Amino acid sequence: MEKLIGQTRLVLTQGDITQADTEAIVNAANSRLAGGGGVDGAIHRAGGPEIMAECRKIGSCPTGEAVITTAGRLKAKKVIHTVGPIYRGRPEDPRLLANAYLNSLDLAARYGLRTVAFPSLSTGAYGYPLEAAAKVALGAVKQGIEKNSGKFDEVRLVLFGQDAFDAYAQALGQI
Ligand code: ADP
Repeated sequence: MEKLIGQTRLVLTQGDITQADTEAIVNAANSRLAGGGGVDGAIHRAGGPEIMAECRKIGSCPTGEAVITTAGRLKAKKVIHTVGPIYRGRPEDPRLLANAYLNSLDLAARYGLRTVAFPSLSTGAYGYPLEAAAKVALGAVKQGIEKNSGKFDEVRLVLFGQDAFDAYAQALGQI
């Protein structure tokens, strides 16, 4: 499923982001860049120890911000590590989630990475409700594409499972 925003394709797919053939893949990291379960564990396992070595040098990343490392053995050129909010139903949660997408796209644009794949940030261990997260995510991705006009060929959301895909497909119809 996809939608054109300016010259950029915004694409929804279902699958495993470690297999994505985009120039950048985004990791749902924690603020200590310490590795963990979920998509973070999968990216470090598939990419190898070089990624963690660079994360250790960087040290940490505040919620809503993003940092960049090698992609090790992955097909991608770079991994962008961003930190979504732990969902608590606070008014700042959507802003922090949107910032994670926006800062990741700004970083990709700065590095000339023209294709970018995201997982559904914060909707696993961090507990952000899927429908709400999907709206925030796609709104922020659209904003990030428009802000970095001409810099991206494709921004892809790689959704893990049918429920996530359905929530994002519904939200895509609303942006
Ligand atoms: P967070 O801590 O930000 O919630 P998680 O990794 O726990 O991060 O979950 C984020 C989303 O990533 C969840 O929807 C989860 O199902 C999904 N996910 C887990 N593994 C993968 C993978 N290999 N590829 C894409 N998405 C994944």
